[in-house]
Amino acid sequence: MTGSPVRRASAFTFIVLLVALLMLPNFVWLAHDTSGSVWVAALVLPAAMLALLFALLGRWPWLACLLLAPFALLAPLEAFYILQYHHPTSAQIIATVVATNPLEADEYFGRLLAPLAVALFAGLAVALLAAWSSWRARLRWRGGWRVGLSCACVVAMLLPLGIGYASFRHKSASESESATAPLRDYGDAIEDGFPFGVVPRIVKYRSEWDRMRIDAARFKAFRFHAQRTGAPLRQRQVYVLVIGESSRRANWQLFGYDRATNPELSKLKNVVPITRFIATWPESIAAIPMILTRRKPDMAWDAPWHEASVLRAMSEAGYETYWISNQQAIGEFDSPVSMYAYEADHVEWLNHASWTAPGSYDGDLVQPLKDALGASGKDLFIVLHMMGSHVKYDYRYPQAFERWTPTQLSPPGQGTHIERVRNSYDNSILYSDHVLAAIIDVLKHSGAVSALWFESDHGELIPTPTCDKEGHGVGTVPEYEIPALFWYSDAYQRDFPRRVAALQSNAGKRTISADTFESLIDMAGVAFPSHDETWSLLSPDWHYHTRWVAQTQHIDFDTARIDRECGRVSNGGRGN
Ligand SMILES: [Zn+2]
Repeated sequence: MTGSPVRRASAFTFIVLLVALLMLPNFVWLAHDTSGSVWVAALVLPAAMLALLFALLGRWPWLACLLLAPFALLAPLEAFYILQYHHPTSAQIIATVVATNPLEADEYFGRLLAPLAVALFAGLAVALLAAWSSWRARLRWRGGWRVGLSCACVVAMLLPLGIGYASFRHKSASESESATAPLRDYGDAIEDGFPFGVVPRIVKYRSEWDRMRIDAARFKAFRFHAQRTGAPLRQRQVYVLVIGESSRRANWQLFGYDRATNPELSKLKNVVPITRFIATWPESIAAIPMILTRRKPDMAWDAPWHEASVLRAMSEAGYETYWISNQQAIGEFDSPVSMYAYEADHVEWLNHASWTAPGSYDGDLVQPLKDALGASGKDLFIVLHMMGSHVKYDYRYPQAFERWTPTQLSPPGQGTHIERVRNSYDNSILYSDHVLAAIIDVLKHSGAVSALWFESDHGELIPTPTCDKEGHGVGTVPEYEIPALFWYSDAYQRDFPRRVAALQSNAGKRTISADTFESLIDMAGVAFPSHDETWSLLSPDWHYHTRWVAQTQHIDFDTARIDRECGRVSNGGRGN
């Protein structure tokens, strides 16, 4: 070692400070979650990797500090995020943050913006000071225990993977998990830790984002040649499509449920429940394109598709279009939806919480809706995408909406599993009711000729005494039977009484989400050469089409066999 002892001591102090700062997000995470996997992801792996980095660059510790400087800058932000949402950021969160405009960031952080900015620069300063002082003190790390420690770090890093494979082999006899599962879990653990996990997160974000945008570009050249029908109105027109999430009709008071889950919508006038509406597929990835495009339910969900969505038709007809989402921009299940979102003139991503955390409630959609209405005097078509009732249900509503207890988050021992799930689920419906009523209230007071179409992407299976399955993607009746409704302003009724009358007469018929596209077209008074009103609930020409569900199996929902345990829908049986 060379350099004066004082300089070495100060360099050493800065390095310790830097390491502590880099570990801070991990410690905050551990404070909220002390499960074994978090110990590995938040402590074992990051600590071993940091030690290994300094050991490998033993002769140039200043270089290690410089390499870590960008992460030191980010550490306060990541720690702040984990403090709020109790888990690390992800590629999806990065996408949301990057797609956020500075004005939204200002609204989001509020008074915390200035202190947070100071913290970021303080973090960077610590790293730079550590680099400069260790260079000035000519700090070196030599000797045998550097090699020993490197080996120990490698062992510590590989140990969790070994344990993962050992326990996988132990249980794989009974479970049919893929052989790469332990490796995937290990990759996730590295990705969740700080600082090194930031690198795969950014790589993932970039590649998924680019792929999504390339998919979106495929529709660029497509034209419906859509125009407005009828004479222009003197009043502005505003139309809204709200896409719900995992909402099942059976738990809506509006459709006959025995709990008061729709206290607000039930009181509103001009609401038309569409009572026998079904989704074509029990998963968003296939269900949402059926809502947004002219896809038909007899097509395979992954069949090639070259047409743009309803957003394009609306924009051709002179509507300024918005996509405001409380879901996420990228991801295996999100990107195929987002590629349609990017047909809109304005795209906003609001969710900072991810699927697996509380916070970022659907009420966050209301202010951006108001902002969109206030931003111009133009006619608008706006899509609002809710988080709705996606698992975990208790993460979807604020405390004030915890009407039914015990919930899934209540201490163990209270109520049965079935009761707890039902209560949690119903609280999420109660909150969706509130959000939808708030959205309608904004439209009602906008002074525009206005209408709103709501439907859930698909329903949800919750456990019953005969069925212990839950979630969606199974293919049961409650996953297909979705709530849908139409709301219209008094001015809309005055200007378009025939559309309202047609909708009212069709609302009780056997309808399907593939009816949405043409209904929206008629809702907004648009037409194009191949516009097919037999699929439009706002047209007297609407007629029943075979309600194919689960396209790979081609099941006619109206003649399907339905099993008694879970209500699983399968081919053949019912009164053919
Ligand atoms: Zn969904």
